[in-house]
Amino acid sequence: MQYQSPASIDEAVAALASIGGARVLAGGTDLLVQLRSGAASPAAVIDIKNIAGLRTISETADGFRIGAAVSGAEITDHEALVRAWPGVTEAAGLIGSTQVQGRASLGGNVCNASPAADTTPALIAARAIAEIVGPGGKRSIPVEQIATGPGKTSLASGEIVVSFLLPKRPASSADAYLRLIPRTEMDIAVAGAAVSLTLAEDGTIADARVGIGAVAPTPLVLDASFLVGTTLDEAVLAKLAEAAGAAARPIDDKRGTIDYRRKVVGVLAKRAALIAYERAKGAR
Ligand SMILES: Cc1cc2nc3c(=O)[nH]c(=O)nc-3n(C[C@H](O)[C@H](O)[C@H](O)COP(=O)(O)OP(=O)(O)OC[C@H]3O[C@@H](n4cnc5c(N)ncnc54)[C@H](O)[C@@H]3O)c2cc1C
Repeated sequence: MQYQSPASIDEAVAALASIGGARVLAGGTDLLVQLRSGAASPAAVIDIKNIAGLRTISETADGFRIGAAVSGAEITDHEALVRAWPGVTEAAGLIGSTQVQGRASLGGNVCNASPAADTTPALIAARAIAEIVGPGGKRSIPVEQIATGPGKTSLASGEIVVSFLLPKRPASSADAYLRLIPRTEMDIAVAGAAVSLTLAEDGTIADARVGIGAVAPTPLVLDASFLVGTTLDEAVLAKLAEAAGAAARPIDDKRGTIDYRRKVVGVLAKRAALIAYERAKGAR
């Protein structure tokens, strides 16, 4: 197996295009496990961690740009990003352990396309846009369009996700992400839910977006338009829980049954909404 460590995005794209079956390597916390188990045996791995533009977080007039190879630890250490996007950053802070977070990248989490990837529902709720570069040039797509099934993405051969754009936050906005795991450490989610809210002057919800994870072949956007105009009373929260359970298409496995996952994702959506709401009130 070849190993290449290009210094630019163009070199990385060229390397991926010239070696059939080459795979991108970021932190390796998914890919190396797949190599060791024999689940993947690429002819080459193209290490993107030495490409400077993929390793930085920057704040612009339009929001935040997070390089795809930025690690979870770098994300949770970034104070301005944590203030603006507490849900996205808490999702990154739930990945594995301190050691895993030192390697695990945002791009790797999304592009590994695990249904249970923690940051994807949070990025979906944030309306994050993925910037992609490949042999055909540049394109941008909403994060929910990357995973198409377990381990499968819409990325064409040779394409690399280079960054994620998080839009600028209006005042009184916040997000939250919650997941349930069967143990206290180092497990993947039975269900996860992320909620991003913006409040109007009078405290009613002016904008809402909900992402759910681990309850379908890919993380999903939930239609949460019924939250707009409300202050999250009990009836609205019950409707949110019901909508999350109804949208879920979970599997039965050792971590939980279909019924359990439907119930849990509803409870998590409700709780995440309440946390985001309180945070948004505090962000006036
Ligand atoms: C002990 C342990 C615990 C874990 N716990 C969690 C957890 O709690 N929650 C969770 O969500 N995940 C968890 N994971 C999975 C993993 O850590 C994350 O998915 C991580 O974010 C992957 O990032 P990476 O940089 O290591 O990706 P890599 O392993 O380098 O890559 C993963 C996949 O994405 C592709 N890829 C990577 N970057 C790009 C890019 N920029 N463009 C295109 N393709 C790309 C690679 O080719 C590969 O197919 C855990 C893993 C381990 C080993």
